[in-house]
Amino acid sequence: PVVTRFAPSPTGFLHIGGARTALFNWLYARGRGGKFLLRIEDTDRARSTPEAAATILQGMAWLGLDHDGEVVSQFEGAARHAEVAHQLLAEGKAYKCFSTQDEITAFRDAAKAEGKSTLFRSPWRDAAAASHPDAPFVVRIKAPQTGETVIQDQVQGNVTIKNDQLDDMVLLRSDGSPVYMLAVVVDDHDMGVTHVIRGDDHLNNAARQMMIYQAMDWDVPVWAHIPLIHGPDGKKLSKRHGALGAQEYQAMGYPAAGMRNYLARLGWSHGDDEFFTDAQARDWFDLDGIGKSPARFDTKKLENLSGQHIAITEDAALRREIEAYLAAAGQPPLSAPQAEGLERAMPCLKDRAKTFPELLEKAHFVLTSRPLDRDAKAEKALDPVSIGILSELTPHLQNASWTREELETALNAFAETKETKFGKLAGPLRAVLAGRAVTPSVFDMMICLGRDETLARLNDVTG
Ligand code: GLU
Repeated sequence: PVVTRFAPSPTGFLHIGGARTALFNWLYARGRGGKFLLRIEDTDRARSTPEAAATILQGMAWLGLDHDGEVVSQFEGAARHAEVAHQLLAEGKAYKCFSTQDEITAFRDAAKAEGKSTLFRSPWRDAAAASHPDAPFVVRIKAPQTGETVIQDQVQGNVTIKNDQLDDMVLLRSDGSPVYMLAVVVDDHDMGVTHVIRGDDHLNNAARQMMIYQAMDWDVPVWAHIPLIHGPDGKKLSKRHGALGAQEYQAMGYPAAGMRNYLARLGWSHGDDEFFTDAQARDWFDLDGIGKSPARFDTKKLENLSGQHIAITEDAALRREIEAYLAAAGQPPLSAPQAEGLERAMPCLKDRAKTFPELLEKAHFVLTSRPLDRDAKAEKALDPVSIGILSELTPHLQNASWTREELETALNAFAETKETKFGKLAGPLRAVLAGRAVTPSVFDMMICLGRDETLARLNDVTG
């Protein structure tokens, strides 16, 4: 069975790259009936905060990336990580190194002066235990010194590292605390992780982690190191490119489904498919489809996909998402009548909105209530001549059956009797129904508002 994990360091928010890594691992597991685990890599006590961990969890919750089992704290596993180092020590695959920082520096300076490799070669690697002084030591792994290490990476292909480039990595510091590299390997092994999908900034770590797997005689997981995300200009994604936190996109009102679709396409492809559902993504996602070159962040594409997801979301679900968006964005909640009106109006609102704020902007006519506030353009559209014409409209609407087609026929016929075109009445009617000049179609608004409300708004202007 497939087991993947997301292993963020809780030192900040869930950034776009992290969100994509989490999504890839989630899709890979969910598409294969596997498990998706979450481990908080909080061993760096100075930089890790519980607030950052909470923010990352919130970001994942927004994106719907549910994990299996308990959240694992890497720091809490320190004793187990040290235990593995002691096992390697007992098996002679690691050793106590008593070299001081000064000695290491002197070694490097001398090597440099002689034009040799400055990789530290500890004199303690093969020293007999009897010679050990009673002094502080670190535990180092005995790295292979000849031959090569091959990382079989599902994205990068085979990556070969010459073993003479590897030093005897420290496993335990002189205070007995385990290093991060050891913790990752032990945790991935103990959690039963079968596939590690992560940013290619960790590819170098993989070579060092491999040493620990080999020394412990553990199965190496399948590794897939994915290229980082670049900005639209092809440079590494940075604050300069705008929002970086996944939750900033939530606050901008992108639907989570649109964000998932977009992030899935960021570095992964399935033929020419751009727009897809979660179910399709789960079915299709595979490591083969991950590209070797960095993906570029493209806001237009995100907007486009988001719009398509809004359009296919069921009305009640969309209303709930919008209410959650308003809460997350710190905006006032909808009243019960507003929420009902919004849901009823959804069919004519959701078609061309790329974000929730855009949808809410179109929904203004259902969210507002009588007496309507009117903006300057709407005021202007309601000139005396228009008001005069509209004042005769009520009887025509009272008897029309309330369907789009009938209303269209009735309004066109009415316009004709007034020797004008419906187009000329549209502006004043928008002002009547919404108090604005830019609105959804007049017919859509009339259908959503219903006969009584439409006539009441008309009467407010003409009565
Ligand atoms: N904690 C690492 C990071 O946030 C991830 C390590 C890993 O996935 O192995 O970049």
